[in-house]
Amino acid sequence: MKVLVPVKRVIDYNVKVRVKPDQTGVDLANVKMSMNPFDEISVEEAVRMKEAGIATEVVVVSIGPQQAQETIRTALAMGADRGILIKTDAMVEPLAVAKLLAKVVADEKPDLVLLGKQAIDDDSNQTGQMLAALLDWPQGTFAYKIEKDGDALKVTREVDGGLQTVKLQTPAVVTVDLRLNEPRYASLPNIMKAKKKEISEKSPADYGVDITPRLTVVKVTEPAARSGGVKVEDVAALVAKLKTAGAV
Ligand code: AMP
Repeated sequence: MKVLVPVKRVIDYNVKVRVKPDQTGVDLANVKMSMNPFDEISVEEAVRMKEAGIATEVVVVSIGPQQAQETIRTALAMGADRGILIKTDAMVEPLAVAKLLAKVVADEKPDLVLLGKQAIDDDSNQTGQMLAALLDWPQGTFAYKIEKDGDALKVTREVDGGLQTVKLQTPAVVTVDLRLNEPRYASLPNIMKAKKKEISEKSPADYGVDITPRLTVVKVTEPAARSGGVKVEDVAALVAKLKTAGAV
């Protein structure tokens, strides 16, 4: 089984995001960028499938600026086989990402596309679903467990109040959730080995996909500042305070 894993370069999850003064977006200057955490989970899962003899090849693809090559290298150091960088400095919306991925699927013919459930920068949670629709492939979202079942995949999904298991005929699209696995850290020898792995470079125009945004960001604002807490003497005072605040 050939697995395609799309990986996005995003602001590192440890960074405190600053909104630009003109509220048009967030400040990316001198900010640490990393692989989207959910994509680390999908790379890990694909590599584990390869180690288990289920996957034959793991190809990673990233759509982003030249530096997205570092994100691809990280995936290669974790054990992926080769990478594709679709280079653009533009902000690419999920629909355009899905259209580009559909073209990569047409070229690469994977049996499984394994995406993160969402990118932590735009929080869209759209790309996997849109890709499945464009390809007319079955999809399993929010995967908690993925098992091979003959020609099919059994995907256990995290749903409100429990787990749901669905069976998908391959080729299929699966998006991964947080508890699927714990991604490995790449070892130094594997980081060195990854430097020799192939990364091919393309542009959105090579695939004939128009990536012009369809949405206008009206404004971006910081979350409201939290008001400070107060100390109370005892439980009775706490209950009295909660009552006046209308909380009980
Ligand atoms: P989103 O729909 O933006 O929340 O992203 C969901 C998933 O789609 C991510 O976890 C990635 O697997 C994939 N994805 C989104 N944008 C990109 C991109 N620019 N390059 C590669 N993969 C992407």
